[in-house]
Amino acid sequence: MKNEYKVPVAALLRNLGSQQEVEMEVKAPSGIGDSFYGVRVGSPVHLKAVLSSMRSGIEAKGEISAVEEGKCSRCLKEVKRPVKVEFSAFMPFEREAGEASPMKCEVDEGGIYPLSGDFADFEGLIRDELALQLSMIRLCKPDCKGLCQKCGVDLNEAGCHSHEREPDPRFAKLAELKERMTK
Ligand SMILES: [Zn+2]
Ligand SMILES: [Zn+2]
Repeated sequence: MKNEYKVPVAALLRNLGSQQEVEMEVKAPSGIGDSFYGVRVGSPVHLKAVLSSMRSGIEAKGEISAVEEGKCSRCLKEVKRPVKVEFSAFMPFEREAGEASPMKCEVDEGGIYPLSGDFADFEGLIRDELALQLSMIRLCKPDCKGLCQKCGVDLNEAGCHSHEREPDPRFAKLAELKERMTK
């Protein structure tokens, strides 16, 4: 079965210092976020990158676009918004068992995703980069007012919302008592 995340890079590997542009439209892999918020499995992901051939592998720099969705953590409304992540990663040649891992000094930042033969595999990279960049603040808008803690109404839509005219039943008893005592 064809793996849509794998890109052939044989020509690139043969020419040290050469570059290859990659652009792909794939389905989001699983494991980005949780059931409440994240990039849904199978939703479209766009990846654009420049691969550079280096002595011990390939350096990949580029951009990933996707859509994150879930529920606003204050008002529970559905949120859906585009995300764009810039990444830089290193794809070292596969190592024989027992061989030393790629030299750290060649990698300035980003994750390490070993090549599989003559192919660069972007699945792990897409998952990690998007999971890392998911919005920490999961709100439908920055100033979402959330839901009323007494009646659950959406305070973004309720306008001037107050409960002064409909006192809590627990306070009604107190008010009654107070009235009797002051007579
Ligand atoms: Zn909200
Ligand atoms: Zn209310």
